[in-house]
Amino acid sequence: MTSRSYQGRHYSGRHRNGSRGPRLPRALSAGFVLPTTAAAALVVTATGAATVAQQSGAESTIALTGQQTAMARVQEAADTSASTDIAVRRQDASMQTAALQGRAEAQQRAARAAKRKAAAEAQARAEAERKARAAAREAERQAKKWVRPVGIWNLTSGFGWRWGKQHDGIDLAAPTGTPLYAMSQGTVTQAGWEGEFGYKVEIQYWDGSVSWYGHMSRIDVVAGQTVLPGSQVGLVGNTGHSFGSHLHFEIQTSAVGDNPVDPVPWLQTHGLW
Ligand SMILES: [Zn+2]
Repeated sequence: MTSRSYQGRHYSGRHRNGSRGPRLPRALSAGFVLPTTAAAALVVTATGAATVAQQSGAESTIALTGQQTAMARVQEAADTSASTDIAVRRQDASMQTAALQGRAEAQQRAARAAKRKAAAEAQARAEAERKARAAAREAERQAKKWVRPVGIWNLTSGFGWRWGKQHDGIDLAAPTGTPLYAMSQGTVTQAGWEGEFGYKVEIQYWDGSVSWYGHMSRIDVVAGQTVLPGSQVGLVGNTGHSFGSHLHFEIQTSAVGDNPVDPVPWLQTHGLW
């Protein structure tokens, strides 16, 4: 057993145990039979012996066979591999957790942004609706306001008996060509020549009352036309049974028949006198 070939195959360097220093396996396989409690730690020494640290703090050494030492190495390598694997998996898991958390936060941010946007849009809609309602109210107010039929307010003849006959309106003197206006929102019920009235325009307003303009020199509207406060309907003139340029102005209580009322109190109640 001292031949060169034997020595070549078995020189001590190939089977040195523990040449890389002591090892501390973290788990022990079923191949180990320890005389102490399961809480003991095993230290593999350079000579193939194991030191067991017991709970009491005392140490005892047990001899390990070459096979047991090899098993300890394999166990240790498996432990190292397993702990590396666990570390990698832990890292993967924590990265996945972070990614999920990031996604969840991004979703929450998006949800908050969507909520803010929806709220802003709802506010804008409400504001637009409020403005539209205000505009509609203002348009209605403008349409239902009352204005005078003529800019020159020079009363020359009142309502009632005059020269032995009933005068069904008032006369407002103004030069021929002075513009005549609709007094509020309404519809032209008649426009044209009518005997003693000369050129005449009748307008029924939104409150039901009717105005007659007589002796006009020109008519600018047609029957059925809608008018607004201040719409020009024609010009002052001296047509029909008239002596001097003026507006003959009547207020009727209905669009049909002839039911005149004194225009002065009517103008007063409409804030125009
Ligand atoms: Zn008159």
